[in-house]
Amino acid sequence: MLTTAQAEEMLKTLKLTIAVPSLIKAKSDPFETLIVTIISQNTADKNTQTAFERLKQRYPITPESLTEANTAQIEECIKPAGLYKNKTCAIQTASKAIREKYGGSLNVLLALPLEEARKTLIGMSGVGPKTADVVLLFSAQKPTIPVDTHVNRVSKRLGIAPKAGGYEAVRLSLQELFVENDYLFVHQLLIGHGRQFCKAKKPLCNSCPINIYCDTKGAF
Ligand code: SF4
Repeated sequence: MLTTAQAEEMLKTLKLTIAVPSLIKAKSDPFETLIVTIISQNTADKNTQTAFERLKQRYPITPESLTEANTAQIEECIKPAGLYKNKTCAIQTASKAIREKYGGSLNVLLALPLEEARKTLIGMSGVGPKTADVVLLFSAQKPTIPVDTHVNRVSKRLGIAPKAGGYEAVRLSLQELFVENDYLFVHQLLIGHGRQFCKAKKPLCNSCPINIYCDTKGAF
């Protein structure tokens, strides 16, 4: 396990070498972040972007509009992202809940203490821990680290999260190791690193800029 100082050095190297993914922007509208994140599940960024743009051209991205929208038309808009029936169901269920329980805005919910806001978001059908954490981190600047497939794989290979740990174990290990101000960078840079170097099937360990910190370098 890295020390806090080593983790900080490693993050500095990643900041200098890895391109930050740009699908979700920091401080973007929370409801838009929620919808983009639902669409992005198991989908490449390019297809998510296409699907979201098609949806945005057809409907205003608000809980009211998406609750009342025609289900088949939402499905048609987000088809390029795959799993479009399940995602449409999640979008409309979450929209309805936000409209009915929170007056059509996520702001009241996001102003709650972190754990309460997180629990409430996760309680919505179709919103899992990663989606909730993305909304909380990007749109409410709350100190949490969303763990997607890249963050999970890279942090376990590096030895900074328990190898057999589930979502919460990985998230809490990363949050303990890094300072809160860096949580957004940690999330974005581990994703970027997973795409560029620490690929699922054939990681590029010899050219990996942080291989001196890695537990599993050369194991592939
Ligand atoms: S050395 Fe290999 S396994 Fe370790 S982080 Fe780099 S690419 Fe991933």
